[in-house]
This record gives sequence, C-alpha cells and structure tokens, in this order.
Amino acid sequence: MSSMFAALRLTEELLSRHSVTPVDGGCQDLIVQRLRAAGFECESLVFGPADAPVANLWALRRGSAANGELLVFAGHTDVVPTGPLEQWRTDPFVPSHRDGMLYGRGTADMKTSIAAMVVAAEEFVARHPNHAGSIGLLLTSDEEGPAIDGTVKVCDLLRARGVRLDHCIVGEPTSVDRLGDIIKNGRRGTLSGKLTVKGVQGHIAYPHLAKNPIHLVAPALAELVGIEWDRGNTHFPPTSWQVSNIHAGTGAGNVIPGRVVVDFNFRFSTESTPQSLKDRVQAVLLRHGLDFDLTWTLGGEPFLTLVGSLSNALCAAIEAQTGLKPALSTTGGTSDGRFIAKICPQVIEFGPVNATIHKIDECVDVASIEVLKNIYRDTLERLLT
Ligand SMILES: [Zn+2]
Repeated sequence: MSSMFAALRLTEELLSRHSVTPVDGGCQDLIVQRLRAAGFECESLVFGPADAPVANLWALRRGSAANGELLVFAGHTDVVPTGPLEQWRTDPFVPSHRDGMLYGRGTADMKTSIAAMVVAAEEFVARHPNHAGSIGLLLTSDEEGPAIDGTVKVCDLLRARGVRLDHCIVGEPTSVDRLGDIIKNGRRGTLSGKLTVKGVQGHIAYPHLAKNPIHLVAPALAELVGIEWDRGNTHFPPTSWQVSNIHAGTGAGNVIPGRVVVDFNFRFSTESTPQSLKDRVQAVLLRHGLDFDLTWTLGGEPFLTLVGSLSNALCAAIEAQTGLKPALSTTGGTSDGRFIAKICPQVIEFGPVNATIHKIDECVDVASIEVLKNIYRDTLERLLT
C-alpha cells in the first residue's frame, strides 16, 4: 500500500464522495477496506435516527506488547455544505489541482488529515509489524452537525467497555500560515444562553400604556458587554461574551413590542465555570429589575493537555519533517476533542492550514499532504516503537 502519493490519492478518493453532514457517503467503507488489509479490526457503529443515521468507525490494531499504550487518531468524514455552487471555480466534489493546490469541499477540514492518518498507519505497520502498543482510529460523520450521535457516543461505548486511551491526535486543521506552525493542546468551553425579556406591547404614541423590553434590556446588555469575566491564564485567553442574535418587533413602525429575545454565547477559559458565569449573568439581569426567562445550553467544557509525551513526540515529529517548532494554542471553536478528553489524558489537535475551511474554493497545499502523513507516521514511531 505504501507508495509515493498514496495519501494524495486517498484524499482525492475521499473528496469524490459526497458527505455533507451527517452523510458519510461511503468514506468509512473505503477506509475499512484499507485498514482491514493493514491488520485492523474494524467496527462500524451506527447511531441516531433511522432517517438520518450517523456512521461511526472504531478501528483497532493491537501490537505485540501486552502492556503497550494506545494511540488513537480521530476525525470526521462529514463536511459542511458547499454554499452556492456557481461561486466555486470547480465542482466541490471533484478534486481539482490548480497552482499546486488541491481544491474540494473537505480538503482542509478534514479529509486530507484522514487520508494522511490512514496511510501513516499503513506505512507504520508495514515497517514495524511487531510494534509496541496499539493504534486506534475513531471516525464520525457527525462533527459538523449537532455532534450528538458521533464521537460522544463512541466515547461512551469505549468507556463502558473499559478501553483505556493514552494518546489521541485529532486531525482538525490547526495550522495557520504553514503546516506545523500551530497545534492545539486544548479548547475553550462554550456556553450559550437564550434570554427573553418581557415588556408590554402597545401603541408607539402611547408609551405610558406600554413597557418597551428593548429599552429595558439595553442597559443590562451594555453592562454585560463591559464585564471582564476573567483574565484567562497561561493556557487560555480570557473568557469572552458575545451576543449573536436579537429579535423583537412586529415589523410595524408604530408598535412597541411585547418581548425581546437575545441569544448570546460564552467561550470560557478554565478560570470560569459554567455555574459562575450563569450566576453572574443572572445577577446583572436581576439588578436591572427585568422580567425575564433564561435558558442555558452547555456546548462543551474546556479541556487542556499539558506538555507531556504526546505533545513532545508530535512537536519533535513536526520539527523533523518541517523544521518548524510548533506553538501550542487553545484558541478557536470547539471540536470533538472535548468528548475524547473525557476518556483520554492526552489529546492534541493537529492538521493542515485552516485558511479556507468552510469557505468557497476550500483547498490544501498538495505538497503538504505527504508531509502531514510523514508527521503522523513519525509520531507513531516515536510513541509505539
Ligand atoms: Zn473539522
């Protein structure tokens, strides 16, 4: 299986499969064929509703040492929708080369990483058939969607079976300017709130007979915008609070609305907890005398992997293959790393340059595909031989 450009070819094969979330489009079947040939036991785990099933894959190859460690590669085969097709220079599901770049939906996020992981595992096994420890692969087709029938369910199952993970590399596109400049050793938490402030609807010319909820909530919002929630720490930037939507009004220009709905979100560091943030928001709203309902959704707790055997091995592999010393970062959105961190002490995310993810004309530097595969294989060699 190991040949020059094997990772590029597999990337192209995955790109050709339509796998807009939560559809897998046959990506995992293709990977199962490849991994079985390399001695992996593969288990397809389907969760979710019958009309929109989520395909997940758990693949495992045990090494010869009884007490070896388990390193897992994790990722997702689903991609985000293309957006307007006419704005793409070429069909997003037909891999296309232009000026040294490979174009297609999922090139950067994250079919290149998956192909690189699979080929890295194939090459590693061919070179070290009696390797130490074990290699796992955890793939889902529900990362870009609600993420309720994907990695989180597989992690629950692995925990129930008593499977112990030691290291996990998530192939999210973490690089910024060049492959290998940034790896993520954690992510902030996410906590969303939906606030409904009640007033009294009325004629705009008779404000004394109404109560304008927009006017009532505005000073509270101004106060919330100004709060320093925490200052972050060595590993995390400060907690941020942002309003994403405000809805009020009937559409008519002469009606004071009866209510206003405000959606907001925290990205929080380990210096704050969901409860402390909820308490502080509640206190502000009460101090402003508002009549309100507030519902909360905890999207994910923060996680952090301190410098250790996994980050050392991965950083050494990146430096050996690219000459770069990667910086550790915890910025950006959430990822499935938040679920894996609950069953694995060391979780690091590393993948291609993320400049075009989720965009029209998503692309990846063709030359970086082979390098990414070599970094993953080098990391396996450092930890499992
Ligand atoms: Zn992704």
